[in-house]
Amino acid sequence: MSAAYEANLEFAKSLDQQDKIAHYRDQFHIPKDKDGNNWIYMCGNSLGLQPKSTKEYINQELEDWANFGVEGHFEAKNPWMPYHEFLTESMAKVVGAKPIEVVTMNTLTTNLHLLMVSFYQPTKTKFKILIESDAFPSDRYAVESQLRFHGIDPKEGLVEWKPRQGEDLLRMEDLETILEEQGNEIALLLIGGVNYYTGQSLDIKKIAELGHAKNCMVGIDLAHGVGNIKPELHNSGVDFAAWCTYKYLNSGPGSLGGLFVHEKHAHDKSLKKFSGWWSHNKTTRFNMRQDLDVMPGAEGYQLSNPPILSMAAIKASLDMFNEVGMDALREKSEELTGYFEYLLNTIESDAIKIITPSNPKERGCQLSIQVKNADKGLHKKLTENHIITDWREPDVIRCAPIPLYNTFEDVFKMVEKLKELV
Ligand SMILES: *Cc1c(COP(=O)(O)O)cnc(C)c1O
Repeated sequence: MSAAYEANLEFAKSLDQQDKIAHYRDQFHIPKDKDGNNWIYMCGNSLGLQPKSTKEYINQELEDWANFGVEGHFEAKNPWMPYHEFLTESMAKVVGAKPIEVVTMNTLTTNLHLLMVSFYQPTKTKFKILIESDAFPSDRYAVESQLRFHGIDPKEGLVEWKPRQGEDLLRMEDLETILEEQGNEIALLLIGGVNYYTGQSLDIKKIAELGHAKNCMVGIDLAHGVGNIKPELHNSGVDFAAWCTYKYLNSGPGSLGGLFVHEKHAHDKSLKKFSGWWSHNKTTRFNMRQDLDVMPGAEGYQLSNPPILSMAAIKASLDMFNEVGMDALREKSEELTGYFEYLLNTIESDAIKIITPSNPKERGCQLSIQVKNADKGLHKKLTENHIITDWREPDVIRCAPIPLYNTFEDVFKMVEKLKELV
């Protein structure tokens, strides 16, 4: 396709006209400057924009709370008691899982800890955790604190999968080497499915095979994968995964996260787990006198009754994802990011380097642009022009053209401004 691309506004607009899912943009609130012009919002990998329907979904619950009080648990239009179940099927579709494997609860880092209670069981000889070297800080802190909790010094217990000297991306063969050398000592691999910094999307099925061949547990952080790529979690065979919903899933700041536990573990009563009343069999939960009877699958990881207002925002978003479908989203996404990449490559300057892989199968929608000798001033100038991107020290601008609400015109205008500034 790229051979046929053209770097001009008319061409960008013609791509928007051919876009079969362009109308979804109207279903979002796009921030505007004081003259009423839309911002160019390329930061949906940090906080997704608000669907217009979110307010109605939340208002429904506020109304039902006003009208029914506690009876809303059963009398609300969408009864609160099973509310999380209304999200399960759509969420499972988005990540390529079976409903028993998925639940919406807590936040991402909390879920990682709860999952590590089950899936990080160090022994004297097999106790290490492998992460990628530029893992998101929260994941690193979570893993280090798990090591310390088990009396292991992170210096001994943390193994890093690094890009080679002078390279930005991870190579699968380097993971193979680490596992050949230290696999017998590694208990858990916890890897970002799509790296937040480089935008590299890893073959999680391959990672699961390599890890399992050395009897390691394999977990995936999907913060940057969910709603962006099609992770096919069930088929990948990974043991567990966790994600947040405020990035690509447009569910609002600090909204709840999700987790996946592979079906092969669903009925394993020997797995250690932390529990609360919401882990208990729902048919007898309110007898309140019984011994714990943990629900099978992902639902058994729930501890508390969940915040319905936040779940309503997630439902608004998932209903939209369900309607569009990940196939159509991904198709546009590859096209939109492909055009973005093409335009960036027309900038005649050595100062610009895209560190994200150029193969669409090895990335989501995000491109991470390294700008030589740039400082945060560049990002500030973009922001002053209402082009919202994300700056990562020392010199990377992360941009995510979101297929649900960004346009080909957006990426064209963004690159025009960048050209002017570098
Ligand atoms: C966004 C993000 C987080 C954030 O964690 P919260 O617990 O939701 O605050 C963690 N890990 C990764 C990889 C992320 O991208």
